[in-house]
Amino acid sequence: MGASRQEVRCYHRRGAPSRLSDGRLGRGDGGGGSEPAIPPALWAAVFFRYKYRMRVLVIGSGGREHALVRGLAASPRLERVYCAPGNAGTAQLAENVAIGVDEHARLLEFACAQNIALTVVGPEAPLCAGIVDRFRAAGLRIFGPTAAAARIEGDKTYAKRLMKVAHVPTAEGRCFERYGDAREYIATRETGLVVKAAGLAAGKGVFVCPDPADALIALEQIMLQRVFGVAGDQVVVEDLLKGEELSVLALVDGNTIYVLETAQDHKRIGDGDCGANTGGMGAYSPAPLATPELMARVEREILVPIVDALRIDGAPYGGVLYAGLMVTPAGPKVLEFNCRFGDPETQAILFRLESDLFELLSAVVDGRLADAVVRWRAQPAVCVVMASRGYPDAHESGKVIEGLDRAAAMEDVFVFHAGTRQLEHLTVTAGGRVLGVTAAGDDLAAAQRRAYAAVEAIHFDNACFRRDIAARALGRAAPARAVATTARGAQP
Ligand code: ATP
Repeated sequence: MGASRQEVRCYHRRGAPSRLSDGRLGRGDGGGGSEPAIPPALWAAVFFRYKYRMRVLVIGSGGREHALVRGLAASPRLERVYCAPGNAGTAQLAENVAIGVDEHARLLEFACAQNIALTVVGPEAPLCAGIVDRFRAAGLRIFGPTAAAARIEGDKTYAKRLMKVAHVPTAEGRCFERYGDAREYIATRETGLVVKAAGLAAGKGVFVCPDPADALIALEQIMLQRVFGVAGDQVVVEDLLKGEELSVLALVDGNTIYVLETAQDHKRIGDGDCGANTGGMGAYSPAPLATPELMARVEREILVPIVDALRIDGAPYGGVLYAGLMVTPAGPKVLEFNCRFGDPETQAILFRLESDLFELLSAVVDGRLADAVVRWRAQPAVCVVMASRGYPDAHESGKVIEGLDRAAAMEDVFVFHAGTRQLEHLTVTAGGRVLGVTAAGDDLAAAQRRAYAAVEAIHFDNACFRRDIAARALGRAAPARAVATTARGAQP
């Protein structure tokens, strides 16, 4: 981690672009004037592209992937969307392909055979395992970071070290390879701790321990009992932070950052944020907590320095970078970075995207993000997750889901499928998180009402869902609402 320092370009979601390292402003800086005439060759290219529309492949099978498929399927540029392996919901908008997310050779073969113009990777595991490197080596366009850049999620010790180098605010902590050293460190701490397996552990490798004595038990499980296998070869032990969590997702093309509309999710299984940690039981967008001042700080203190640090470290980032933050009284601090879209935040965020998702993701892949124009609808969105009984542990499956058509017919509602499968003419449950019932409304309360009305229209045996998604945000004053923003910073 050394080399020369050259600051990344960064464009605000709203308002003027940040100042570049050479002191100029980005493309949103003044200027005005009329648009230049479009040359005939460009018209021809546009005509050609519309006439010979393209095919895309989405990799994954959850609610996030259904949201990506929905966004891509709406693009007039596309002839067909494939999803591997997909679910019962993606099958309605795309063609599901029976290839697993870890079958890289088969995915590559499929993409070549079908002349796929763009592959979009949903989950972190294939990214960390190098699917982007493999596709690129074969000359294919793919959205997501390389294995080197995906280490920001796949190796929490790397992320922690990089944050230190880049002076990114995060919890005070240390990384350990040896059980004895970690144990000694824990013994010196008197406040609450969080112990994290360094590798990927399907969202289960983090132990939040208000009592440091529990941290020793967590350490034993990770490093001695090896409950997460090699993912627990190293650990991060850090201070327990207090505050409110916020998810910030930004598109990054190596040199330019575009921060998407904000979202907050509800990680705990039970109402009032009680019970076990889950992959997420619901989300809403925008997050009133994310004031323009806070977002400017997140960009300046977190996103720009970490993207810079990755590039300097020889791992330029491309794709979507997810920063899981704790907003503390001392400011935003990073809990984790993810190298992909969040689930269920993506369902709520993309529900509000008005721009062509294919164009936007293509701009990232082609390094044209600075020129992208991004439009959002003003209405907030709320996503309520319906889960199987037992989730997040061993859970039921095979339950018939009823009422999907009724919910889908409701105004401004979309039911994203996650763990579902088609069994002849029936849709049945096939996972822990089953559906992400999403709705928009004139304000957050209206979106929440609509989402829950749709949830009530759906039935499967022993369905579990929280009844308070977005409730904590309703007590907070709404921030200035984004009607439309551009990566160039200009208001259309
Ligand atoms: P996931 O993949 O599910 O997003 P993960 O396994 O990568 O999660 P983290 O996001 O680092 O792990 O942590 C999971 C949760 O643990 C966080 O959402 C947060 O609630 C809690 N957590 C993590 N680090 C801290 C900390 N330092 N202080 C307080 N809570 C924390």
